[in-house]
Amino acid sequence: MLARSPVARPSGPWLDTGRIPVPHWEKGKLVRKHDHNVHIIRLKRFFMSGPVDVLVFIEHQAGKIIRASREALAAGQRLAKDTGGRVAAVILGESAEGIPTAELAQARLDEILQVESPALREYTADGFVLALNKVVRERQAGYVLFGHTYQARDFAPRLAATLERCLVSDCLGYRWQDERCVLTRQMFQGKLNADVELLGDPPYLISFQAGSFREDSVERDDGHARVSRVPLNLPAESIRTRPGERFREARQTVDLSQAEIIVAAGRGIKAPENVALVKSLAEALGGEMGASRPVCDNGWLPMDRQIGSSGQTVAPRLYVALGISGAIQHQVGMKGSHTIVAINKDREAPIFEIASYGIVGDLFQIVPPLTEEIKKAKGSS
Ligand SMILES: Cc1cc2nc3c(=O)[nH]c(=O)nc-3n(C[C@H](O)[C@H](O)[C@H](O)COP(=O)(O)OP(=O)(O)OC[C@H]3O[C@@H](n4cnc5c(N)ncnc54)[C@H](O)[C@@H]3O)c2cc1C
Repeated sequence: MLARSPVARPSGPWLDTGRIPVPHWEKGKLVRKHDHNVHIIRLKRFFMSGPVDVLVFIEHQAGKIIRASREALAAGQRLAKDTGGRVAAVILGESAEGIPTAELAQARLDEILQVESPALREYTADGFVLALNKVVRERQAGYVLFGHTYQARDFAPRLAATLERCLVSDCLGYRWQDERCVLTRQMFQGKLNADVELLGDPPYLISFQAGSFREDSVERDDGHARVSRVPLNLPAESIRTRPGERFREARQTVDLSQAEIIVAAGRGIKAPENVALVKSLAEALGGEMGASRPVCDNGWLPMDRQIGSSGQTVAPRLYVALGISGAIQHQVGMKGSHTIVAINKDREAPIFEIASYGIVGDLFQIVPPLTEEIKKAKGSS
């Protein structure tokens, strides 16, 4: 229950007092009622040390907020509008210096909780769980949102367990229905989408798959969010792991983000020798080769050709997807393309949902004559 205690009404020109709907929990539902005993004091410094309705966990690396957290922020802002409540972000680190609060402060947020402790200098599941457990409990957070990153996958289930709640992980989105949040989650390796309703009392812990929300839809507000520093004393013995050196991604040698035309290969090309087929179409069109993750994982094309949530984000004029199913992690990296042509033998493949032109058929039958026709057309022009 997100109950708000009545607050005294200090005077001062910066306070805007009045009676507005008070969101609170009733039988697992978030309801808004006019509570005439409660004077809501609109923001400025005073109001924000109370409960938060939507709390977004912000992950940062090398002084920058990661994309998945910006997407979670977009989700949090939208959810707060639906609940009629307040949205806050929580960011962890050793001290204010290492935490990119300034970047975060550009977003439309009611509060930024900056949790500081020497024990939070490096990521550890123990440290993050202890810190977030405290924040979630003290701020009586209603919804706690995460990007579904490797880090969140490591600690968020444990955080949920310590709060005696479950984590609804890897969600694709949600809809607000009958004053409830109904989450969408894939099942059976993406063959089915399930609706997940949140029952019981908050907090509700949710992680969103990369690309479920657009990072560029984060609403901005020129740094009006109040920053609350939360110093924590975490005993050294409570951290049972010692982090090693951070894994560094191989340096990218191909910048596909600037390519005008990309021909991308998926698992449907079946074998490494068929990369030649993709290459000849790319050359005929004067474009670059890209790939889905399995193609790179199998070593058929180098990792820097991978497009998607863990690869490059591209927006060419023309994107040709050969034997790519169109999983959300792939779509997130290419759905900004101007024209998408998909060739796939499965007419139900999700890539067709975003394709401008779709060819249902066997790529081995379609690509060679297509390449020849393109060469001929170009030769005659
Ligand atoms: C954390 C995480 C991050 C990820 N990041 C990425 C990422 O950055 N990029 C990415 O791509 N994926 C990523 N993935 C993987 C993603 O979920 C999918 O598994 C992947 O995109 C599937 O690749 P695919 O479409 O090539 O293969 P599949 O899903 O196996 O699809 C192959 C397609 O080829 C078609 N096909 C088969 N034979 C033929 C033929 N002869 N002619 C025409 N069509 C044919 C099939 O109908 C099928 O649709 C990530 C997954 C996770 C969990």
